[in-house]
Amino acid sequence: MRIAVIGTGYVGLVSAVSLAHMGHTVVGVDNNAEKLAQLQGGKSPIYEPGLQEDLTLAMGTGRLQFHGNLVAAVGSSTVIFIAVGTPPLPSGASDTRAVATVASAIGVALAGDRQPRLVVNKSTVPMGTGAWVQDLVTRGAAAGSAPPPVTVVSNPEFLREGQALRDSYNPDRIVLGSDDPAALLTMEQLYAPLIKRRCRGCDISRPGPIPLIKTDLASAEMIKYAANAFLATKVSFINELAQLCDCVGADITLVADGIGLDKRIGRAFLDAGIGWGGSCLPKDVSALMHTANSRGIHPRLLAAVTGVNQDQRRLVVRKLQQALPVLQGRTIGLLGLTFKPNTDDLREAPALDIAAELIRLGATVKGFDPYWSRQDHWPKALASIQHCASAMALAKGCDALVVVTEWPEFKLLDWAQLGREMHQRLVVDGRNCLDGVVLTAAGFHWQGMGRNPPPHGSAPSSTASGSASRSAP
Ligand code: NAD
Repeated sequence: MRIAVIGTGYVGLVSAVSLAHMGHTVVGVDNNAEKLAQLQGGKSPIYEPGLQEDLTLAMGTGRLQFHGNLVAAVGSSTVIFIAVGTPPLPSGASDTRAVATVASAIGVALAGDRQPRLVVNKSTVPMGTGAWVQDLVTRGAAAGSAPPPVTVVSNPEFLREGQALRDSYNPDRIVLGSDDPAALLTMEQLYAPLIKRRCRGCDISRPGPIPLIKTDLASAEMIKYAANAFLATKVSFINELAQLCDCVGADITLVADGIGLDKRIGRAFLDAGIGWGGSCLPKDVSALMHTANSRGIHPRLLAAVTGVNQDQRRLVVRKLQQALPVLQGRTIGLLGLTFKPNTDDLREAPALDIAAELIRLGATVKGFDPYWSRQDHWPKALASIQHCASAMALAKGCDALVVVTEWPEFKLLDWAQLGREMHQRLVVDGRNCLDGVVLTAAGFHWQGMGRNPPPHGSAPSSTASGSASRSAP
């Protein structure tokens, strides 16, 4: 099929690449000139494992191109994906202006056109947006002509940043929502290579076809929000219990293992830590709450889930304060800055809030991130955090380190050597990804989230010039 993907960010670009590897002819469209120039030059503007390689391969086949001309792209495609951003408004509602702009532009591009086409919403949009997009396309095309024969389909995306391409080739399910059975059939044909696991990247060891869920428009839109709200709930649930574990001497990782083996519960998303961030969970939970409130339903559970999550970021600072009651004049090193490992995405990253709070309390904040510290520029979002080129440079002169993102390479750090660089050996493991026994053996006072320090690890061990009880300058 001939496909246009409007918006080539994390979702649009990954979708465009995987659709091309399914055998479709794809044109990616973006209105960001810089991004477009990079893509036309064959370079991925974002970091995702395997993306650059698969982008190069797809472009090499001639089945994937990029340009800025939406009208031409829409005119030559039978299926048009909308994959633009839907960030949060200050009210918490989803900002769907970019979706509206694209829907109207599709209408204008198709004025007078008689070829049947599908417009597919891949962006996460509030319930009812599908019908609104249909209306915008029709009105965009107006000018006296009959409305173009366009059908809107909702096809929400569930990929996880950090493994976006793998998820795109191997989704747990494909959700398609439309009130038109013929449109659903066309979409099923479009995804057939994936459903039957017959395209690059598909894990053929997994049994059976990929499950396909066909629904009406509103239900498909709701499924996306329901999934993210449930994931956020699981994380906040385990984080609340982790706070209790801290008090009663239980270990939250053992508790999570113990309940996670129950098939009704499942172990995934039960890792206690700093909590959820990123470009999806926070905005989707708040958009769902906003929709509920606007319909007179008060989402008490989601409000609590959000509250617990905000507390987790403050909890990290409180844990630091237990060992270093006065943070003014201290130097704190953040290990990992992106909102999760294996991505470059800093949107709603907990590191930003934690750094802001530490700076407010008078600390100096340094940061090492396995992605950003190795780029030739330090992004504006990190301007208040001092750039460190390595974990060793980060440790130098620090009063404490905080693991904010569980990049796998942190497990392999030489903690004894890091400790020698530090003012004092204190680590708050905000992701429970380090081995407390190893850290304690290296002379560290280690604090996890809902985990107790191993024996003999109860007091921070000072090096040459440091002292845990130093008072503020
Ligand atoms: P993004 O900000 O990375 O990408 C959006 C892209 O759309 C940008 O490149 C932007 O330049 C482009 N764009 C905006 N307006 C445009 C226009 N008028 N014409 C052409 N291009 C335009 O966003 P994202 O993270 O890819 O998210 C896109 C959507 O997918 C959102 O609704 C999001 O909620 C949803 N989603 C995201 C993820 C994720 O992990 N990032 C996962 C599932 C769903």
